[in-house]
Amino acid sequence: MGIISTIEASCRDCYKCVRSCLVKAIKITDGHAEVVEDRCIADGHCVLVCPQQAKKVADGIGLVRSFFLAKQKIAVSLAPSFVALEEFSAPGQLATALRKLGFTYVAETAEAAELIAQEHLQLVEKHAMRPVITSCCPVVVNLIERYYPKLIK
Ligand code: SF4
Ligand code: SF4
Repeated sequence: MGIISTIEASCRDCYKCVRSCLVKAIKITDGHAEVVEDRCIADGHCVLVCPQQAKKVADGIGLVRSFFLAKQKIAVSLAPSFVALEEFSAPGQLATALRKLGFTYVAETAEAAELIAQEHLQLVEKHAMRPVITSCCPVVVNLIERYYPKLIK
């Protein structure tokens, strides 16, 4: 199952999601709207327009639990927006809580963004490649990989 799917029991076949999907990634199967995984760019548009809340977004919690059960090392990349989640008494509070829960490595996504920005600059300067797109948004990456593969290079 992909990131976005339909809860069949909740779907009332209004087809609003079908009409709203910009990349035509929803088909009708047995009267229900079904997300076509390899066409979906996971922008979540259909989730917003569905009047029945019949679209489900995978949350990955089960996957993380399975990593813990398998005693695997888990790294957390915290988006800068995490500060809006709660009223923290100190900036490092969430990172400390995650480490206490058993996550091996916790860092802000901004640390990786800095490295990527340096690589981006090198690509542009050394190889005269233009334009070069850098985005942490998976929708942008999905869109290019699935619909504009000529741009991947
Ligand atoms: S918008 Fe919601 S209720 Fe309407 S067809 Fe799509 S999933 Fe079903
Ligand atoms: S998440 Fe976006 S691309 Fe995927 S089915 Fe919904 S509207 Fe279409």
